[in-house]
Amino acid sequence: MATPADEVKKEYTFRKFKDGDNRVDSWNQQIFKADHSYKCPTYVLQTPPCQGSCPSGEDIRGWLNIVRGIEKPAEGMDWQEYAFRRSTEANPFPSVMGRVCPAPCQDGCNRNQVDDFVGINAVEQFIGDSALDAGLKFTPGADTGKKVAIIGGGPCGLAAAYQLRLKGHACTVFDDHEDLGGMMMYGIPGYRTPRDVLHGEMNRIIDMGVETRLKTRVGEDVTLEELEKEFDAVLFAIGAQTGRDLPIEGFKEAPNCLTGVAFLAAFNEGRLKGVAGKVVVIGGGDTSIDVASVARRIGKITNVHENDRPENVILGQTAHDVAGVASKEGAEVALLSRHEIANMTAAKHEIDDATREGVEIIDSIDPVAVVLGDDGRAKALRVRKLKWEGNKMEPIEGSEYEIEADLIVAAIGQTGNLKGMEEFGNERGLIDADSNFQVPNKPGYFVAGDIVQPHLLTTVIGQASVAVESIDHYLKHEEAGKRPKVDVHHFNLLNKLRETHHEPAPFKPEGDEKVRGIDRGLRGTSDADFAIHNFEDRSAQQIISADKLFLGHFEHVERHVRHEDVPTSEEVLGHFEERMKGLSEEETIEEAKRCMSCGVCFECDNCVIYCPQDAVYKVKQDEHTIGRYVATDYARCIGCHICADVCPTGYIQMGLGE
Ligand SMILES: Cc1cc2nc3c(=O)[nH]c(=O)nc-3n(C[C@H](O)[C@H](O)[C@H](O)COP(=O)(O)OP(=O)(O)OC[C@H]3O[C@@H](n4cnc5c(N)ncnc54)[C@H](O)[C@@H]3O)c2cc1C
Ligand code: SF4
Ligand code: SF4
Repeated sequence: MATPADEVKKEYTFRKFKDGDNRVDSWNQQIFKADHSYKCPTYVLQTPPCQGSCPSGEDIRGWLNIVRGIEKPAEGMDWQEYAFRRSTEANPFPSVMGRVCPAPCQDGCNRNQVDDFVGINAVEQFIGDSALDAGLKFTPGADTGKKVAIIGGGPCGLAAAYQLRLKGHACTVFDDHEDLGGMMMYGIPGYRTPRDVLHGEMNRIIDMGVETRLKTRVGEDVTLEELEKEFDAVLFAIGAQTGRDLPIEGFKEAPNCLTGVAFLAAFNEGRLKGVAGKVVVIGGGDTSIDVASVARRIGKITNVHENDRPENVILGQTAHDVAGVASKEGAEVALLSRHEIANMTAAKHEIDDATREGVEIIDSIDPVAVVLGDDGRAKALRVRKLKWEGNKMEPIEGSEYEIEADLIVAAIGQTGNLKGMEEFGNERGLIDADSNFQVPNKPGYFVAGDIVQPHLLTTVIGQASVAVESIDHYLKHEEAGKRPKVDVHHFNLLNKLRETHHEPAPFKPEGDEKVRGIDRGLRGTSDADFAIHNFEDRSAQQIISADKLFLGHFEHVERHVRHEDVPTSEEVLGHFEERMKGLSEEETIEEAKRCMSCGVCFECDNCVIYCPQDAVYKVKQDEHTIGRYVATDYARCIGCHICADVCPTGYIQMGLGE
């Protein structure tokens, strides 16, 4: 499954959080250079790195603060629903994400500098599961009269449908499969994304009034010209559904040499119930691990009949019936990787799990040719050993040998299938996108997801949000404009104040006397109620890094770890139990409490306690909301900057003044 966080950040993350973006233009720095201060505290909202590293751009800090009870729900709502509403502003699949997202957010989490990251996706799983249990629904926006065609009903297409419906645009999802879900349904096995959870989250989107046309392939059953006539805009979300063949002699000819996506689709459609002999998987990434783990689970059919040969089933010529595969034993499965184990693209815990399940992992090895038998089927894979020095590898002379195989599965990457839509393809069989996810030089056409560059669920869901914003602009005949530097779903304090009925009053400056050209009404406004005082929102520009926090405030607290049901090699045959067991409600709340709320007040009272002037005070109970918990009496403040020093979250900066 998971792609390591390093990969995520280095190559693919489309969000514009790069090295150096977190450099803070800090007023505090200027203060510390002097032995006196003429500035007073002000409150500066910044984006936490967890959110900056989440490709969907979720307001993670926000929903963690809701779970732990610091941010209070809107009237008439429980915290579970409020947290769900907040998390799904960016991503409508919290239950799925909580289970299978490799969580780049956790690698970015500042808590890593104290003890261990916050278990963000464990909390996300709880939020998603409790929303499913409660049967929560989404509400579409007011109808705009515009219609969008979405080609592809995978996570990208469905997330786009969700965001479009929130904005009130009608949409129709076309998918060539019998069911929606794309790779969530036909790639990732059900023990990782349980189908009731997946259907629950997908149906909630469809229930917003999304039309679906299943078993309909655009480019074959419907043409793009027909879509152009019926719809105001078109979004390609067709994924990269075609597995790449191994570029070695014999692979294409042998019927029992197949791709990982074909193998997993046959398993997930319920056709493939067993393999026949030894399975050799080539890859090292997420898909190869899934293939090997599934092969270990379904096991080997003994006394195989021609119809039961896996390749016939995978290619759709036959299907296994249950009676025919009743007698099964453990399958021998080898996973071959060119890289050394430590550098394989699959996450370490996935490799460890596969090994525990009895998959033999052979690293630093290169396939050379498929050895064909007299019947034209592959009977072995010829390989050679590799020697790695840094990033360079060399084949070891005379190291070739053969690995016996009844089924050879290549899981070395995927590409798109653009049949009937060839004019949109690039040289890699994918579709180009600009920074707003429009197809360059094709007005009205947008593209997002794996068909731009195969990556992760969270990435395609984040791209869907951006694409929908662009579609919305297009439908309103507006310029799409430049994306913000920190391109995430930001918390908006003004909206929060509106929700809690603390909205600033309309702007009405009093008096018309001008002093040096400035309206008198704009001077001395500290008591005026038309502004959010002493507050600056820098979250679209800055990520707050750990060195801007007061880490000494946080004690070591063990992370609450979910139980993973990983069978041993003896237990794996027929083991399809869900892997990721969720945290209890109590554990979830305790885990959320580990969050350091980077970049926004979490109501610790340090500034109130330590202020030697009693200048910092708590705002009245009935006026306070998240981010507006304390205020400063500037008549008392002497600019000693103790409050800024002891603020654990970096929310206070000495900025107000000259
Ligand atoms: C085996 C495997 C395991 C993975 N594990 C993880 C994981 O653990 N965590 C993670 O975050 N990511 C994982 N991924 C990656 C993730 O699944 C993909 O990034 C994601 O599904 C891509 O979403 P998408 O909507 O762009 O495309 P897809 O999920 O591929 O969906 C595209 C849909 O469009 C349909 N379609 C294509 N062409 C047409 C057409 N012409 N007309 C109509 N319909 C069409 C397809 O049939 C499909 O249903 C995994 C991928 C694979 C293959
Ligand atoms: S979607 Fe993934 S990266 Fe984003 S918050 Fe959830 S686990 Fe983290
Ligand atoms: S401590 Fe909380 S706010 Fe800070 S990065 Fe981690 S999860 Fe995000």
